[in-house]
Amino acid sequence: MAEGPITPEHCARARGYQMKRLGLGLAGTALETGAALALLALAPRGGWPLPAAPVFLAGAAYFALLALLRQAVSLPLDYWEGYRLAHQVGLSNETRAGWLLDQAKGALLLLLIGCPAAGALAAVMARWPGDWWWIASALGILLGGGLALIGPVLLAPLFFRFKPLADPGLRERLEGLLARTGARVRGGVWEMDLSRKSRAANAALVGWGPSRRVVLSDTLLACAPEEVEAVLAHEIAHEVGRHIPQLLLARAAAFAAGMYLIQEALDHPAWWAWTGLAPLPPGEPAAIAAVWLLLGMWGAALAPGVLAYARRLEHWCDAFAVRHTGSGRGMASALEKLCVKNLADPYPPRWVVALFHAHPPLGERIRRAREGAA
Ligand SMILES: [Zn+2]
Repeated sequence: MAEGPITPEHCARARGYQMKRLGLGLAGTALETGAALALLALAPRGGWPLPAAPVFLAGAAYFALLALLRQAVSLPLDYWEGYRLAHQVGLSNETRAGWLLDQAKGALLLLLIGCPAAGALAAVMARWPGDWWWIASALGILLGGGLALIGPVLLAPLFFRFKPLADPGLRERLEGLLARTGARVRGGVWEMDLSRKSRAANAALVGWGPSRRVVLSDTLLACAPEEVEAVLAHEIAHEVGRHIPQLLLARAAAFAAGMYLIQEALDHPAWWAWTGLAPLPPGEPAAIAAVWLLLGMWGAALAPGVLAYARRLEHWCDAFAVRHTGSGRGMASALEKLCVKNLADPYPPRWVVALFHAHPPLGERIRRAREGAA
């Protein structure tokens, strides 16, 4: 089955690593869910943690406690997965201090964005008890769109350094590709200094409007020019296929539907009798934990369908790249190198793909690219 640089030894090591990562990730999610449930069941009601404060402030404070609690319970597992295990397999070259600093930055960012958002949600729930779902949905969708807009320009540089693609040979290939495909990526192509933290390689199309750009990791740029060109063509295919707006719209619709269902659930005391939890009157900050838990369940229920659709789009982009680079050879060898560099499992178990993967198995993508090359 394995050909080229993907050896049976790689497959065995990658399977072991990826399954451990998945196990640790699922255990972390279980712990976070348990912590949120415990807070919902055990914390006092009546505006806790700031009973005398305006609803907005009480909601923001509740979110801060919830977020810090979640971070605290899953931190040991995150450390095991993201630092220890990644070092054991030779993927990460980040220092412990650097890893901790990134965690702290991530937590701070979550509080800066999440606290006002949660405060606003609590205030909207208090003010419009029967109609909050669509007002909160509209605000949440605006926030999500805003974050997608500023993410590549303002947020990602907090973790990595970016500069416009420098290599003149690659720039020329890129311009040729854009001319052939008629695509326009407003923000251009950028390289990111992933090598400071990791040996893995990656590429992505991110942002929208003026912040839309293709980002390539410097670790990817070590590949042969025809391989980088194939990866670039795949990312340009996401632009040509308008995949980011599709994804944002689908996410907005799913979010609004989820909020509607959550309002219905919170409005029905029978539910609360069944769960054994005290009902939540409008504006009770504990509703933040309930919304977080129920949104998580809603997301998990939708995931298999959303991921299956995402995998179809990825196949389409691979086929597009093979068509527009003239051969599947570059794509096949690029994917093989990514598989080895990232210690990816080329043939993950079917249930793992169905439940967790937004990309088709690399083994299948490589086979299709080779068929395109033949
Ligand atoms: Zn893709």
